[in-house]
Amino acid sequence: MPYPVAHVMFFVLCICAIAVYTILVALLRRDISSKNIIQILLLLLVGGFFAEFPDIPAVYNILVNGTMEHSQIGPIPTHSLLFSSSAILFGTFIGYMIYREFGKAVYVGLFAMSASLAHLLLDDLSRGAIYYLYPISSRAFSVSSYMDVGIARVNFIRYLMASYVLVFFLFVVIMMALFALDHLGFEFRYRPEK
Ligand SMILES: [Zn+2]
Repeated sequence: MPYPVAHVMFFVLCICAIAVYTILVALLRRDISSKNIIQILLLLLVGGFFAEFPDIPAVYNILVNGTMEHSQIGPIPTHSLLFSSSAILFGTFIGYMIYREFGKAVYVGLFAMSASLAHLLLDDLSRGAIYYLYPISSRAFSVSSYMDVGIARVNFIRYLMASYVLVFFLFVVIMMALFALDHLGFEFRYRPEK
């Protein structure tokens, strides 16, 4: 499992790369107020926190129980789509505290959910087993582990499916983050030449 900092960096610098680029350009052009900077930092803080969301029980268990057990809250595996998606609820609550506006709060929730799903993605890429289909199935697996064992040695259909599923998962997580950011003050659009 990657270090916590790696999860935060993966989400902020890779999934939200275009947002980081936009912020840097605005800073260089001095086209941004200190109030905007505080709001962007808060948003990145929310993203960074939820990039760690599935590992929160690990921190709790180390501090309270002194064990390294890290992937369950009661019967629910935290490294599952079900648990990670619940970040939308907590994120919306935090978003409401930041903006005092339900419309914007939902987008903060979506941003948080994207960060939490990005955590699963990075764990999967580093061969961590994820309970993707919990509670339908309690089998944990890593999609990326099916991708690089050589076409000849695995079922070809499974190899192909794993490649598509992982890339599509990454695409969905990035789109979710961009969609949320687009409604939180960032603007990504094509400027056609006149
Ligand atoms: Zn993890």
